[in-house]
Amino acid sequence: MIEDDVRSQTEAEVVAELLRRSAFVMVSHVKPDGDTLGAGLALGIALKRMGKRVHYFQQDPVPRNLRFLPDAQFVARDVPADLPADALWVFCDMSDYGRAGEFLPAIDRANMLDIDHHLGNSHFGAFNFVIPTECSTGTAVMRLFREMKTEIDPQIATCLLTTIMTDTGGFMHSNTTPQVLELSAELMRAGAGKEQITEEIFANKRVAATRLLGRIIDEMQFGHDGRYCYSYVDDAMLVQTGGDGEDTEDVVNVLRGQENVEVAALFKAYAGEIRVSLRSNGRVNVQAAAARLGGGGHFRASGLTFYGSREEAFAAVDAALSAEGLDVAEQS
Ligand code: 5GP
Ligand code: MN
Repeated sequence: MIEDDVRSQTEAEVVAELLRRSAFVMVSHVKPDGDTLGAGLALGIALKRMGKRVHYFQQDPVPRNLRFLPDAQFVARDVPADLPADALWVFCDMSDYGRAGEFLPAIDRANMLDIDHHLGNSHFGAFNFVIPTECSTGTAVMRLFREMKTEIDPQIATCLLTTIMTDTGGFMHSNTTPQVLELSAELMRAGAGKEQITEEIFANKRVAATRLLGRIIDEMQFGHDGRYCYSYVDDAMLVQTGGDGEDTEDVVNVLRGQENVEVAALFKAYAGEIRVSLRSNGRVNVQAAAARLGGGGHFRASGLTFYGSREEAFAAVDAALSAEGLDVAEQS
């Protein structure tokens, strides 16, 4: 019974399905990052080169720092009316299709392929290629490319290296294994624009973003004997600094990077809801903490949406983190 089938398909099974279909919609999650977008673009470009029809669906606009990606100009919130009924919708980098947002049309499960590396992926597709040991969804796509014998050209290589550099924090996170560096070397040899990725995604900060970072740092608070650092950002702070939501994507990592901090949280209160980003140094499972409040993600990086006041959000997240062991001091 398909509902209970949490098995991932093999590379060969997924590739057989890709070859069978003639039209595709690559779907990225809301607040897209370099992995969801880079993985979808890489696969989309490869499928187009095979003569397939490919569209890209994404609820939110492409963030400024990802607009350099090949094919990013074709990403849109709607799909053409003449899309064939058996088009395959390929969801990249999301644990459930709800992460694609509310503009996603109703899609038959038989036409869903779920490619992901999140813990706790719900295997929502008829086809699921979920490999939690992969550093990025893009490296899961690379497995399919190997199976398909896809030639990795410079455009595809740039998209794939972007997924790796985004999800390893520029080769700094603990998911940066020797194999990840080997894959990255392979992509650079294939012509990936590493310098461009560095410049567009990691350098090149807007002054408004830096001013906003300053405001968020002004509001930084600590708890749990300094092991927990949190702060918030709201609409008023955006107006004061001229920054916007895109400028806060990396800020939680700054909070996590303070000395002795094991877990950091950034509460983003925009337009009546509070988006919470959680980061861990690897002791406390923030995916489990987020899941307690309806969110998800990875052991060290997760998120959730909270509906309520800021104080209620602070209290709820604190309780969830405590329940996941933030209070228990490290055994030495
Ligand atoms: P971020 O803090 O960058 O928004 O998200 C960190 C990680 O948590 C990402 O891997 C993201 O996919 C996941 N995540 C963020 N928000 C949610 C959410 O509301 N639900 C689920 N399931 N995962 C989330
Ligand atoms: Mn990812």
